[in-house]
Amino acid sequence: MATPVQQRLLKTAIPGPRSAELQQRREEHVTSGFGVTLPVFVEEAGGGIIVDVDGNHLIDFASGIAVTSVGASHPKVAERVKAQVDKFTHTCFMVTEYDLFVDVAEQLNRLTPGDHAKKTALFSTGAEAVENAIKIARSATGRDAVVVLGHAYHGRSLLTMTMTAKNVPYKESFGPFAPEVYRAPSPYPYRWPTGPENAAEEAFAALRELVLTQVGASNVAAIVAEPIQGEGGFIVPPAGYLAKVAEFAREHGIVFVADEIQSGMGRTGEMFACDHEGVVPDLITTAKALAGGLPLSAVTGRAELMDAAPVGGLGGTYAGNPIACAAALGAIEVIESENLVARAKHIGEKIEARLRPLVTGDSVVGDVRGRGAMQALELVRPGTTEPDAALAKAVAASCHAQGVIALVCGTFGNVIRLLPPLVIEDELLDDGLDVLVEAISSAAAGR
Ligand SMILES: *Cc1c(COP(=O)(O)O)cnc(C)c1O
Repeated sequence: MATPVQQRLLKTAIPGPRSAELQQRREEHVTSGFGVTLPVFVEEAGGGIIVDVDGNHLIDFASGIAVTSVGASHPKVAERVKAQVDKFTHTCFMVTEYDLFVDVAEQLNRLTPGDHAKKTALFSTGAEAVENAIKIARSATGRDAVVVLGHAYHGRSLLTMTMTAKNVPYKESFGPFAPEVYRAPSPYPYRWPTGPENAAEEAFAALRELVLTQVGASNVAAIVAEPIQGEGGFIVPPAGYLAKVAEFAREHGIVFVADEIQSGMGRTGEMFACDHEGVVPDLITTAKALAGGLPLSAVTGRAELMDAAPVGGLGGTYAGNPIACAAALGAIEVIESENLVARAKHIGEKIEARLRPLVTGDSVVGDVRGRGAMQALELVRPGTTEPDAALAKAVAASCHAQGVIALVCGTFGNVIRLLPPLVIEDELLDDGLDVLVEAISSAAAGR
């Protein structure tokens, strides 16, 4: 199928009548435990456009949550997937092996930060990768405790929802939680009580104190951090913070895990967000954009750590599924051959140029932040830092009505985040940004 015309086009109200009909069936047959950003049903997608069942062309500022960086149906991914489906769909890598698994591992060992000896384990979902990073760190250190940050998001499984900071909707009613998870404050510059200039040092001091005096360094298996926090609000840690944490971990024999599931694979204008500061984690988790839309995740890291788990201790029936591996090889090829890392940087520059001027001190836009094609703006009551979740909801709704798929995130529900596919054309990006800026000013005027 050809890539859809790369233009926003509204034929009906959003959602249109066919989507509304399907939504009724969904409500009848599908659990209401799944929320939805925009109840529109998709017919096809590619580039920066999602075409719904009513024929509307919507601008994609979500990429299915940072997954379809190469587009939702890149020909090079599709080609490899089709070829692999015809050969075999599954063997279980723990039963009989296939070279695609080894190829993806080799690629990740090459692409991830650091030039030390690395090995990789493949899984299916991000949460599974984080869980396995903890299993590996515990096995390698013989320790139990895991230290995470405020505003963290690591998944929805028992351990990873425990590691996740926000209660509603991720944790409420789902306890009891996994033991031995401790939380240090996130160095959130915009909201740091004594000012952004102190965030790196004071947040690090708090983490250090937590580890040394409350948990005991010799009990800590891993410190896990998102190099840019995703669901928690696209929080970029201040310069120097991650390097300090990595060094502290090394001093105390603690495994430093970078969760790059959202920020990795070129999204931020470097292959990994850690690369912006030359930070080299011991283990790194990837998923989301790894396989061009197919479910695949990985833990990559120091060979001696990766080999610490007992033989047979890691795995999973579907772990590193061959079709997903074929897709990943296609996605990695596209990221490199189409220079999508540079493209992410370019997208970031365009977004910043358009949105940064909105931060004026007395505007509803309190902060614009991010790196590359992972950008967000935080909406507040003018002149304060008080979060305005209702405004974020109104802005997103207005974008949706005009055919722009924008996502809300953040612990306080007041952050609009932009995660366009890295292959989005400039004109489409500009059009989407126009809609967003207009949505903000009209929603703010209505206050
Ligand atoms: C999405 C995400 C996860 C969980 O990935 P799933 O595939 O949804 O399990 C973990 N960590 C981060 C940083 C994420 O953004």
